[in-house]
Amino acid sequence: SKLSGRNTYSFFTQEMSDVMLRRLEIEEQLNHALQRDEFEVYYQPKFDVKSKKMIGAEALLRWRNPLLGNVTPDEFIPIAEHTGMIVPIGKYVLKQSLAFLNDWNTTHQQQYTIAVNLSPRQFRDKALISFIAQTLRDEKIAPHSLEFEITEGVLMAGNSYIDDALENLHQLGVKLSMDDFGTGYSSLSYLRQYSFDILKIDRSFISGITEKKEDLDLVKATIALAHSLDLSVVAEGVETHEQLLLLDELGCDLVQGYYFSKPIPAEDALDFRYPAN
Ligand code: C2E
Ligand code: CA
Ligand code: CA
Ligand code: CA
Repeated sequence: SKLSGRNTYSFFTQEMSDVMLRRLEIEEQLNHALQRDEFEVYYQPKFDVKSKKMIGAEALLRWRNPLLGNVTPDEFIPIAEHTGMIVPIGKYVLKQSLAFLNDWNTTHQQQYTIAVNLSPRQFRDKALISFIAQTLRDEKIAPHSLEFEITEGVLMAGNSYIDDALENLHQLGVKLSMDDFGTGYSSLSYLRQYSFDILKIDRSFISGITEKKEDLDLVKATIALAHSLDLSVVAEGVETHEQLLLLDELGCDLVQGYYFSKPIPAEDALDFRYPAN
């Protein structure tokens, strides 16, 4: 009827305006979040499958705002990306991560690696490469200890400045990792086209490998493909011992996931030992 049609209409506009209000609030709060020191970088350890030794970590950003509480990166990163705030935020994450890596290496007497996520928007920053080079020097980190995780969203933009930036990163000696592998369309052609060092299989495939034959087959094929291109393979989202055993059998090189550790604050990561003493 006409009435229910109208109700449906107003229901949707209400819902839409809620979503927009939330978005605007996040946008507004994001503007001051850096100055107000509301961000914290967490670290999720990564392990060698064969030796079970910790080899490094992925940096994952956390945001706690007095008004909004904890906001997940899945919600605020796309907004920061849209407004451009991701550029200064990304610089903060890199600086924190490299300073942490310096501490971590000293504390454990190891040469760990740190992986930092890089958003498409950050590539439009002309000073990106020189900032990375400078931060590596400031924190006395060897370029090969730093890894950038990049989703194919970056590559799909198809701009020449992205090609140039990836080439410059490669020249700088940092490692490039293709993130969320398997979730997009044309990852295969990108793997051939650019100088990736690492392929990261998305959590959505790892969660199915012990139950779904399709997921298992896909992961098996992905590992074979990556190795044939001389890339090392990281599986993310490993939660069970069964998954770990299977990934070992399949020849997967590195793993991260709740089975070993959730992302943890720097202080906890400094103390983290696996297996625990
Ligand atoms: P991602 O790069 O795919 O990161 C992996 C996500 O999976 C992280 O979520 C991590 O906490 C979660 N995870 C890891 N192991 C497990 C597991 O065993 N089980 C489950 N259920 N989840 C697991 P998080 O930290 O919420 O980050 C979400 C996304 O936000 C990231 O996905 C990344 O795309 C983005 N992000 C986070 N920090 C940054 C950052 O500093 N810069 C940029 N550009 N993006 C970031
Ligand atoms: Ca802080
Ligand atoms: Ca990642
Ligand atoms: Ca992922």
